Amino acid sequence: MPSYAYFHKRFVPLTEAKIGVMTHALHYGTAVFEGIRGNWNSQHQQIYIFRLKEHYQRLKDGSHLLRMNLPHSIDKLCRITVELVQKCGFKEDIYIRPLVYKSSEALGVRLHDLDNDFLVFAIPWGRYLDMEACRCRISSWRRPADNVIPPRAKITGLYVNNAFTKTEAMDRGFDEGIMLSPQGHVSEGSGENIFLVKNGKLMTPPVNDSILIGITRDTAIMLAKNELGMETIEKPIEPEELFTADECFLTGTAAHITPVVEIDNRKIGNGRVGEVASKLQKLYFEVIKGNNQKYLNWCTPAYKK
Ligand code: PMP
Repeated sequence: MPSYAYFHKRFVPLTEAKIGVMTHALHYGTAVFEGIRGNWNSQHQQIYIFRLKEHYQRLKDGSHLLRMNLPHSIDKLCRITVELVQKCGFKEDIYIRPLVYKSSEALGVRLHDLDNDFLVFAIPWGRYLDMEACRCRISSWRRPADNVIPPRAKITGLYVNNAFTKTEAMDRGFDEGIMLSPQGHVSEGSGENIFLVKNGKLMTPPVNDSILIGITRDTAIMLAKNELGMETIEKPIEPEELFTADECFLTGTAAHITPVVEIDNRKIGNGRVGEVASKLQKLYFEVIKGNNQKYLNWCTPAYKK
């Protein structure tokens, strides 16, 4: 089944969506992107797109930072995305990738005096961290400070930092790397936020420790509060606290909720998937697949019934 893209304001087969070699964003990383999941529910014969509006809100904020205008309102972007998913017609989990990029075919490092364009495509994509539980290492690459490249925006150029981390971790036999902030606090994984459980409480790094303010992070905080009665404390976390935590898990659109059982070859807790992580993971899958009535307002059904 072919994938489609919305490109230059129309739907085209993904294979026909091409940009020129001089495109500014290709040379200088001057673009912002999103990663959105569409989750297939075979009983409902439906794809539910998860927290679509929130993703486009973040894309809008990031575009603004790079001095780019979205060509459409957030509502229109949501409608375009639904139409795109309908056109693709997949009956499996998908991943949707919107991009706002400096589209001028012009060289010269800058943000001003350049055109920008918007595109979005969808592809089938199953699990990202393809495991029940993952083994991490503390990365030797640090997250940049807000005044280097603001990590709260998904700026393509920034992701070289994440790529260094991911490949370093995998080269050394781990699944994922955990980066520290410039101050040496625990920040996040290459594509995930991080949570710890200690003495029945949840902890996660605060927004000023160079994290992306994850939508899954927010989802996990809300589910923990509403369904497990657990508050999440947002506070600076020292690397040592990782090793003494009872549980650890990662959250992200691609990675969902993935338990971490080992960091730098040390067991977290008893080295097995923790109770809180596994409860949250179960709830999360129910919610994103549209199987929990209470959270259906987070799910946009793509197919007409
Ligand atoms: N941190 C980074 C660096 C990421 O790339 C992602 C994935 N978008 C996340 C955290 C998790 O964010 P979200 O839950 O919104 O996907």
